[in-house]
Amino acid sequence: MGKTRILLVDDSTYIRTVLGSIITEAGFEVAGEAADGEEAIRKYMHLKPDLVLMDVIMEPMNGMEATKAILDKDPDAKILMVTVLEDKDILVDLARMGAKGYITKPFSKDKIAEKIKEVMGEDV
Ligand SMILES: [Mg+2]
Repeated sequence: MGKTRILLVDDSTYIRTVLGSIITEAGFEVAGEAADGEEAIRKYMHLKPDLVLMDVIMEPMNGMEATKAILDKDPDAKILMVTVLEDKDILVDLARMGAKGYITKPFSKDKIAEKIKEVMGEDV
């Protein structure tokens, strides 16, 4: 089995860079990057990543809309939200929608690796 390929979605280039080095160091692979919801949908369909790390607040299309659209197209999509605690209500909606969980900012390398393995069904 190859490395878990992950699509990184965040409107912050800095956060994408930090996430990219964290997941690479943790033994995963960056499948691609997107800076807003629309790009996330397009790249998801094109790259077919194993997992998506999805920011919530982005313009013009946010992470909620993108998550919904991706899950509509691929109900088996594995999407982990990356967000701040203040987004709690949104996270409840996303869980109902089918998102696999969330990682809060500021995030730690260990937390991210653990959560990804959990979603991918591997031992932690
Ligand atoms: Mg954002």
